[in-house]
Order: sequence, then C-alpha cells, then structure tokens
Amino acid sequence: MSSKDQNQFKTASPALQPKPINSSTPLLGASLAELTTWVQQQEQPAYRGRQLYDWIYHQGVRSLTDISVFPKQWRSTLAEFPIGRSTLHYRSVAPDDTVKYLLRLADGQIIETVGIPTQKRLTVCVSSQVGCPMACDFCATGKGGFSRNLARHEIIDQVLTVQSDFQRRVSHIVFMGMGEPLLNTNHVVAAIKSLNEDVGISQRSITLSTVGIRDRIHQLAKYQLQVTLAVSLHASNQVLREKLIPSAHNYPLADLLAECREYVQLTGRRITFEYVLLGGVNDLPEHATQLAQLLRGFQTHVNLIPYNPIREADYHRPNCHRIQAFVNILKQQQIAVSVRYSRGLAADAACGQLRATKL
Ligand code: SAH
Repeated sequence: MSSKDQNQFKTASPALQPKPINSSTPLLGASLAELTTWVQQQEQPAYRGRQLYDWIYHQGVRSLTDISVFPKQWRSTLAEFPIGRSTLHYRSVAPDDTVKYLLRLADGQIIETVGIPTQKRLTVCVSSQVGCPMACDFCATGKGGFSRNLARHEIIDQVLTVQSDFQRRVSHIVFMGMGEPLLNTNHVVAAIKSLNEDVGISQRSITLSTVGIRDRIHQLAKYQLQVTLAVSLHASNQVLREKLIPSAHNYPLADLLAECREYVQLTGRRITFEYVLLGGVNDLPEHATQLAQLLRGFQTHVNLIPYNPIREADYHRPNCHRIQAFVNILKQQQIAVSVRYSRGLAADAACGQLRATKL
C-alpha cells in the first residue's frame, strides 16, 4: 500500500464523539477540554478544569466533594456528579505478589482485575465486559455467562484502582481479563485513548487480546492505535479450533488469518498469536508443524500459554518436555516464540481463571 493510501486510511479513522457531561455521565474518560467546558458551565473559572483533571486522573480522587482546592460552597453542590469509580469488593494476594481485585460497579455487577508487579513493571490485566459470551471451552469466564459491556470509565477505573493500591505507576495494560474486547470496541478504544492521553500510559505498552470477531480486527485497524494486537488462535486447524472455540464455527481460520494479514498491512504493526497448550489436545508435534505452516509469511510472535486449570473443564497442562518440544519445532521453522507461565495461579487470577468469585 502506498503512503498516500495509508494517509487516506488514517483520515477515515472513526471519530469518537464526546458526550456532553450531565449528572448521569461519569467524568472519568473526559478530556481536559471537556472538563474545562464543564466547569465553565458550572460558572467556575477555566483553570478549575485543570484542577479537576489532575485530581481525577493523577490524584485518583473518588468523589468531587473531596477536591479540597475547590471552594467549599461549590464542592457541596457536586455530590450528584459521579467520577465513575468502582468500590473494592474483595482483594487477594497470591504468593507471587499478583493481586486480584473484585470490583463492584455502580449497578452492583462485579468484575475482576489483576495487578501483576515485577521489579520494572506494573501490569494491569483489565476486563472489558462483565462475563463473556464467547464460551471458549477451557476458560472460566465464559462458563459464567455474559451480562454486559463495560463503559469507558469502568475500564479506566480498573487501572487507577491498581495504581493507587500499589502506590506505583502502572506501566503496562493487557486486555486479557473478563470479556471479549472487540465485542465492545467503541468503549475499549475510548478507554485506551484516555489511558494514553489522560493517565499517561504509552499505547505501545497496551496489549489487546481477541479471539477474533469477523470484521472487528478490520474495524480496529481504522483507529490506527499503537497498541499490540494479540489474537487467540489456540489451534492449528479449523476442526480443532471449532471444538475449543464455538464462535470459530462461523469464522473460519482462513478468514481470520486473512483479516490479520490485512491488519498488518494497514497498520504496519505485528500481531502476536496466543496458543493455550492443552495436554494431548493441541500440543502434539504435528500441531506445532501445522501452526508454523499456518503462520508462514507473518512477521509474528507466538505466545504459548500452558493451560491454567479450571474446575469446569477436563483439560490438563502439558509437562515441560512437551512444551519444550513444541517450542523447538516453532523455532526450527523460524517462528519467534515465548512461553507465558501465568502468574497469580494460587489466587485463581491467571489467564482464563477469572470468574468474579472469591475462590
Ligand atoms: N477474549 C479475549 C481475552 C481473553 S483472556 C481473547 O480470547 O483473547 C486472555 C487469554 O487467556 C486468551 O488467549 C484466552 O484464550 C486465554 N485463556 C483462557 N482460558 C485459559 C486457561 N484456562 N488457561 C490458559 N489460558 C487461558
């Protein structure tokens, strides 16, 4: 594609229309300009917009009535305007310091968020929906059914919650919690933009993981984000994929990979493919060979995720020799590969174990 074409494509990027703020619109997610307009509508000077912005995004205030730099009289009138913060329902810490949070939303729904610290990074695994409709056979979230999409502020809130709990800046975000982000693209993209521009997290440090929904990867490309797209492949052929992922039935592997190729062309960004390793099911040497063939021509990275056990499914995690054999075959075929040993297992906070219950 010529650079001219790419520019045309950029201008076609769908605009996210800002909503006027009223007493039922949570403020989280609003830009500095929108907040400034709002304070002026409240007959306050424009500089209060910047104060509001700092308190919401950088100080993590939970209620406008707590913003001590605001005049008392005005503050007392602000209780009806929600910032959009959740309340903590439950918190547990795994032996590896991963923290799992159950957060209660304004309508009483509970979602799960995970904070994953290392010396250099603090990663937040965020949910994009309450539950998940995809019903992948090996995933706990899908077993609990689906309630609704999360709004922009409910996604941003998860990051601010982890940031304030750890008293440390969040460096990375992965959309690998509950839900399928591309069934909620508008709110997810709006949250990513705000997390980037308002909270200050680089788009390149954000990963969006999807099982692949027809036309939605194409739609995502139009936003020209700098995030990493991870596609949950989990199988090296259509028959096997349909057994593991019901939605694959209506969206054949060939079509999914064609849409991925188009995404790479349009965005110039690589795609990561995720592959959960289920012992005896999709971890045989022939699967690795088939996977390498499938991905030939992609500049890609395969992320192998050894299965994390859930009680509703009968799979098992392959032993380390099987995993290493799979890795070796991919490497021999020049495919970059890494193994993600999920953290948080002991707190039921690892990939696929999120179900919004206490244990
Ligand atoms: N809906 C998105 C995000 C899901 S969670 C998606 O499908 O990509 C992130 C990753 O964890 C996905 O690749 C998902 O398939 C994987 N996963 C789900 N259950 C798992 C389990 N029990 N063990 C290991 N990984 C799992």
